[in-house]
Amino acid sequence: MTHSNNLIPTLKKHFGFDSFRNQQEEIINAVLDQKDCLVIMPTGGGKSICFQLPALMFKGITLVISPLIALMKDQVDGLRANGIEADYFNSSQTADEQQHILEKVATAKLKLLYVAPESLGALENILNEKYISCVAIDEAHCISSWGHDFRPSYQQLSFLKKALTNTPIIALTATADKATRQDIMEQLQIPNAKQFITSFDRKNIRLEVRPANDRVNQIIDFIAQRPNQSGIIYCLSRKSTEQLKERLQSKGIDAQAYHAGLNFQERTKVQEDFIFDKTQVVCATVAFGMGIDKSNVRWVIHYNMPKNLEGYYQEIGRAGRDGTKAKALLFHSYADVLQLRRFIDGASNEQLQIAKLERMKQFSEATSCRRKILLSYFGELLATNCGNCDVCKNPPQFFNGTVIAQKALSVITRLRQGESMGVIIDVLRGAKNATTLEKQYYQLPSYGIGNDISWKDWQHYIIQLIDQGYCEIAFHKHNALQLTHFSKEVLFNGQEVQMTKPVDRSEKLEEKQEK
Ligand code: ADP
Ligand code: ZN
Repeated sequence: MTHSNNLIPTLKKHFGFDSFRNQQEEIINAVLDQKDCLVIMPTGGGKSICFQLPALMFKGITLVISPLIALMKDQVDGLRANGIEADYFNSSQTADEQQHILEKVATAKLKLLYVAPESLGALENILNEKYISCVAIDEAHCISSWGHDFRPSYQQLSFLKKALTNTPIIALTATADKATRQDIMEQLQIPNAKQFITSFDRKNIRLEVRPANDRVNQIIDFIAQRPNQSGIIYCLSRKSTEQLKERLQSKGIDAQAYHAGLNFQERTKVQEDFIFDKTQVVCATVAFGMGIDKSNVRWVIHYNMPKNLEGYYQEIGRAGRDGTKAKALLFHSYADVLQLRRFIDGASNEQLQIAKLERMKQFSEATSCRRKILLSYFGELLATNCGNCDVCKNPPQFFNGTVIAQKALSVITRLRQGESMGVIIDVLRGAKNATTLEKQYYQLPSYGIGNDISWKDWQHYIIQLIDQGYCEIAFHKHNALQLTHFSKEVLFNGQEVQMTKPVDRSEKLEEKQEK
């Protein structure tokens, strides 16, 4: 059965849109046909309408499970402004308020009810098919420990299908790789859900990765070239959001910090000032952005590398929602990788997290189209290179780096595989500092054999050696660089090593190329 005929007038009347986007219409039809659905659509793609519009056509209410109490009110206010009867139920309300809502449900006065997963228990009396026609689960990836934002409270949702056997469940998320998708369906007990996977390609976002050297000044320049453009800078820690904010403010940049350490009022203020263009830049932890509907964010910077590509994708997706040109700039730092690796150490799903970090690293160090790599992670194949990433714009040049590799590997050997990258580079460059003096490394025959190459470039080359398997990092031995069985081939058997030259990815160069 198709409901298409009467959908557009409803869309127009209640939401003010003339046509559907992406797969909204197919999804809505499937929901109206009471099929379980799994909707994977990028942030800003228009997921809400997929359950809000059917909610208007069902007899009973649509229960919307949403993880963030802070956002429920906004969403409900938005619906009410469109003349839709909606409310929310969560632990921030008094018993009287909650009772009042339950009465509204019993007397069929509502079309949509937003609920936090931990409050579902309190809804026991209305959790039956007499009242409920549909269940929507927003941010459904939160149910899976495979995802990047696991929330234990979401695991209670597996009982919904038992309580409401014939009620369609629509699970929605912006981020889910295949394993997470499978996990969502299993846990919600909707094994036969119809899957709708909208393209993840956000063509208007220029992707760029730069080495993290002197990143604060790079950021200051970046912002200086974009007066009045709104942007978000993601940092790994609360402390670094505050520090960066101060550095930027000291340069006269209109920046604020946002993280979970601020109280509710402070957070709300930063959010609102940003949404209403009263603050240009927000330095934030990943706590910032979920559900923020601001279409003119022109750029997103990752001050630190995210721990996986799902997080990266979701965060850059906050730029350019209006479809016009936007930019995502990621700073790639070797130290960040090591730190992220330490966070993972001993985690219950350590292997999985390491694999995800590895993919993130591959993306950052890519020598081929980054968008291809990113989309392939989400199971999408791009037929041609995108032409809108730094690698496409400025392809790396390969050269025979065998001698460079031999120099680095022989220093690693001389240092008995016991020193980290920094010391290796210092010895290569013949640096005179505390370590090289105290440990008398200046007496080694290979001391200074690489003094014709800058520190930064050595780092670039050694990272490539690690990536190509010619040496490795011993995480449990103070990150010492060690040889692998391939090292021997390079040192003694003339194995050739291909490397890329360091690229100057400064903005000026890029602009010159665009002209
Ligand atoms: P998501 O939840 O996928 O991030 P939303 O449902 O919040 O996305 O929608 C993103 C934006 O797109 C909102 O501003 C919404 O009003 C708008 N939108 C959704 N569907 C349509 C449509 N069919 N036509 C025009 N705008 C739409
Ligand atoms: Zn590309």
